[in-house]
Amino acid sequence: MAFSQDGAAVADITYGFYEVFAELHGIDAKVIPLKEDFSICPDDYKGINRAVFIANPNAPTGMSLTVEEIEDIVKTNPNNVVVIDEAYVDFGGTSAVELVKKYDNILVVMTYSKSRSLAGGRLGFSIGSKELTADLRKIKYSTNPYNINRLTLLAGEACLNDEKYYSDNCKKIIENREYTTAELVKLGFEVLPSKTNFIFARTDKIDGEKLYKELKKNGILVRHFTKERIKDYIRVTIGTREQMEAFIAEVKRITEGEAAK
Ligand SMILES: *Cc1c(COP(=O)(O)O)cnc(C)c1O
Repeated sequence: MAFSQDGAAVADITYGFYEVFAELHGIDAKVIPLKEDFSICPDDYKGINRAVFIANPNAPTGMSLTVEEIEDIVKTNPNNVVVIDEAYVDFGGTSAVELVKKYDNILVVMTYSKSRSLAGGRLGFSIGSKELTADLRKIKYSTNPYNINRLTLLAGEACLNDEKYYSDNCKKIIENREYTTAELVKLGFEVLPSKTNFIFARTDKIDGEKLYKELKKNGILVRHFTKERIKDYIRVTIGTREQMEAFIAEVKRITEGEAAK
């Protein structure tokens, strides 16, 4: 609502809400395909003259751009805002927040829903120049100024007072992600390089939808997307070591069952 008067640019495979919100607010969103390997091509966004929305790391691929690549996008779009959504940055990504000091057209947004375990709280924040923040306030105070409730604010404050718990938790998730990736590779899966709390994987042994359904029968929920380009994949959220071991055991059983057919 604040920054997309020239339209927006978003990737074809990314956080689904960008397109949903664009449609809701009547914004023309140009959809830019990821490269063949599912990475974002920074050149596609240079001088695009639209508001740019990039999840970095991206979802559901888990892949990320470097700060230098983001800087090139920001630099070449001086008259538009580049929003870098760092929902997953605490799981091994690098924040672009330092660019805020240098450029007045970058807005970094973060959420407490992922690394801070507060998904039900609906709490997030943005970091950007005074001018961009003033624009956001203008929108906020002309729509719904009371958009964060008091209990959520208290929960957010409690999170900030427990930094060690959350950083330890992120470390465990990263370890379990690396474990799960290695095990899936052993089972013949292709796994995209993830800097998030999930992995995106596929195999020739079974199609994504079938694997998703078989896992579900056994009480393991992963995400499957019907979009053509990613319909072979499953997105697996990283849990505890025990959960990931149970997941790997099930995947092994299911794929071996397929091979025996
Ligand atoms: C989860 C998520 C958000 C924000 O979620 P909220 O729960 O609404 O704070 C934003 N962007 C991405 C890419 C996400 O995965």
